[in-house]
Amino acid sequence: MEDTIFGKISRGEIPVEKVYEDEFVVAIQDLAPQAPVHILVIPKKPLRNVLALQPEDRELAGAVLLACGEVARKMGLEASGVRIVLNAEGDAGQTVFHLHAHVLGGRRLGTMG
Ligand code: 5GP
Repeated sequence: MEDTIFGKISRGEIPVEKVYEDEFVVAIQDLAPQAPVHILVIPKKPLRNVLALQPEDRELAGAVLLACGEVARKMGLEASGVRIVLNAEGDAGQTVFHLHAHVLGGRRLGTMG
């Protein structure tokens, strides 16, 4: 797949403040936050989106979800709640084609769609 800004960030080629990092993912603040808390959890492995995940990515897929929970707790959302969003392709509004999960919270979020 083509390289993206998230590829460069996940490889450490662009210095950013990391909210969380482990073997599989890096988490950063969204550039244009849609809620008081808006963190992006980005796997280090370049995958276009959730539709590109293969059976061998099972551990990575689990790691993304675990990291989302870790980030949500770290940002103090455990009691108030959190929304995790994965956009894939055009109708979903994906703009950066490197898999990432949005971790949103800190205000009452509207209904989806
Ligand atoms: P998508 O619509 O692809 O699911 O979400 C892409 C997200 O990445 C958007 O919320 C956008 O604000 C964010 N974004 C785009 N470019 C950058 C960047 O260079 N740095 C950061 N931190 N976020 C970005």
